[in-house]
Amino acid sequence: MKTSMGFSKFVSLVLTFHLLTPTLVLSSSLSSSNGLSGIPRKFLDFAKRKEFVDWIVGVRRKIHENPELGYEEFETSKLIRSELDKLGIPYKHPVSVTGVVGFVGTGGPPFVALRADMDALPIQEEGDWEHRSKIPGKMHACGHDAHVSMALGAAKILQEHVQDINGTIVLVFQPAEEGGGGAKKMLDQGVLDNVDAIFGLHVTHQETVGTVVSDSGPILAGNGLFTAVITGRGGHAAHPQHSIDPILAASNIIVSLQHLVSCEADPFDPRVVTVGKFQGGSAFNVIPDSVTIEGTFRAFSLTSLVQLKQRIEEVIKGQAAVLRCNATIDFHDKPVPLYPPTVNDNDLHEHFLKVAGDMLGNDKVKDMKPLMGSEDFAFYQEAIPGYFYFIGMQDESRPKLGSVHTPQFTINEDVLPYGAALQASLAATHLLKAELKSASTEGNMHEDVLPYCAATHLLKAIYMKNCEDSRPF
Ligand SMILES: [Zn+2]
Ligand SMILES: [Zn+2]
Repeated sequence: MKTSMGFSKFVSLVLTFHLLTPTLVLSSSLSSSNGLSGIPRKFLDFAKRKEFVDWIVGVRRKIHENPELGYEEFETSKLIRSELDKLGIPYKHPVSVTGVVGFVGTGGPPFVALRADMDALPIQEEGDWEHRSKIPGKMHACGHDAHVSMALGAAKILQEHVQDINGTIVLVFQPAEEGGGGAKKMLDQGVLDNVDAIFGLHVTHQETVGTVVSDSGPILAGNGLFTAVITGRGGHAAHPQHSIDPILAASNIIVSLQHLVSCEADPFDPRVVTVGKFQGGSAFNVIPDSVTIEGTFRAFSLTSLVQLKQRIEEVIKGQAAVLRCNATIDFHDKPVPLYPPTVNDNDLHEHFLKVAGDMLGNDKVKDMKPLMGSEDFAFYQEAIPGYFYFIGMQDESRPKLGSVHTPQFTINEDVLPYGAALQASLAATHLLKAELKSASTEGNMHEDVLPYCAATHLLKAIYMKNCEDSRPF
């Protein structure tokens, strides 16, 4: 009995000492509360190396020269697969026509996903530069060429450190973000099955390079669209009493649609209804048979969106009837339903603040005011926790960049290493945290020690790689 008491006291003393020592080292050597804070800077240094920058800029320019619209991204998809082949990264293809899903890591759980959209827009590029669009009437005017190259950049960084990754990063290259609901189709193919979290980004000309903006909760609106055909009876403009005028009916409809926002919506529940297309008539003295209008409606909850949709239908039909017209309406919500609002997960927001702050400095991580723009990334967030953020690319010493969806849109390629490194860091540290958490809940090690062990292991590996200057890319 005496002997046994003595032994347990001894064990308890040894354990206490063993558990405290690394905790002390952690606070002095890594100057951070969780010990993972060195990874984002290391990844950014890696991404800023000349060989890496030359490669990622080259990839982006190739995609920019050959823009492809939604579900037609065949060459873009081929280029992605060829780069993944060169990196030795396995992938699934085709997923939802042109989509590619790559896998970096062990191939087993936990899983975390990074998303890039691949499609371009039907816009003619203005401006003359060596790598401008070679396809008339099509252009990467939303920066998806940059998104793809940054995702490939993240893949390259992660693959370089693959032996330190316990888990799998799922690289989701999706088609048709611009209205085609590619995200929904990828989701329906099961690409996020067993995935714990997904990260997506978008370039913005409204912030400087090295700055990111986002927030917890809803940051972008949900979105629907409609096409309405208002039919009357055409005739001579001099005798309106013999015709049924669809132009007048459509005009009343457009004015009444605005009342859905000004008179029916709670001012604290932002909504937008905009008619962007009005087509009808061919001569000043002819009343046409029909008019077509098209528009978009937006809100920050699916309930508000569904309500708007119902009232839009009632107003169009009701106002058409007032002037003896008929109306048919198509909401284009099949097979892809209304785009939900983009809602960021709160835990992932905390993760983002930490990782982006470690990489860029806390003053470069800004809060975002919600926007009425929308993103099909929201479909992923309906299925699993997701996080979407904007990454700045304005260089204050250069002329102001053109905005998205315009022929003057331009990418500042300096943004590419930042996006690649931040996406890689968000995924790698998320997996490490999951590993630490599971080890901790299994009771294998004292919780305070775990971040030190895993982060030191990874940092050491990164450091060794960074020292090998001669390592070819
Ligand atoms: Zn766009
Ligand atoms: Zn976009």
